[in-house]
Amino acid sequence: MLEEILIANKEFVDNFEPVSLGHLPQKKVAILTCMDCRLTGFLPQALGIGRGDAKIIRNAGNTIVGEDAIRSIAAAIYSLGCEEVLVVGHSECGMAHANPEAVKAKMIEMGIDEADIDAVGDLTKWIGAIPGEEKNVLETVEAIKNHPLITSEVPIHGLMLDIVTGELSVLIDGRE
Ligand code: ZN
Repeated sequence: MLEEILIANKEFVDNFEPVSLGHLPQKKVAILTCMDCRLTGFLPQALGIGRGDAKIIRNAGNTIVGEDAIRSIAAAIYSLGCEEVLVVGHSECGMAHANPEAVKAKMIEMGIDEADIDAVGDLTKWIGAIPGEEKNVLETVEAIKNHPLITSEVPIHGLMLDIVTGELSVLIDGRE
């Protein structure tokens, strides 16, 4: 696959008109969404977000596990000028069907020490398994809002994207 990517990159560079953009998001928005491969080339378009417009943070299931997503959101707000945060979940999320037992079995099969797996605590939570796509968006918005380092001056919106039609629905309007 790496070979294929390097060939694609050469072709891209050969045909691309170089452009230099600033690193600050023009629309002053940060988006926390899922790493789902179907959102690539789909979610920004569905939201009217172009190159240079937004900070997009992606992880398994648009979840807050540990500090990493929070760290990125904090950077977006305090260092990069974001004035709104969108949590965008999507229908048919793979993390709603994640099976921690199967994950653990696969890890062991691939040489990971069981003690190291057990050391992470709740593997279901750690892997980012979610209780349902909509419930997860609500919980993620709450987790961001309740974090002591996230200001209440920045609205945190919760949305769901239909992975088939691209239709967006608002679960939480952070301005309310
Ligand atoms: Zn997903």
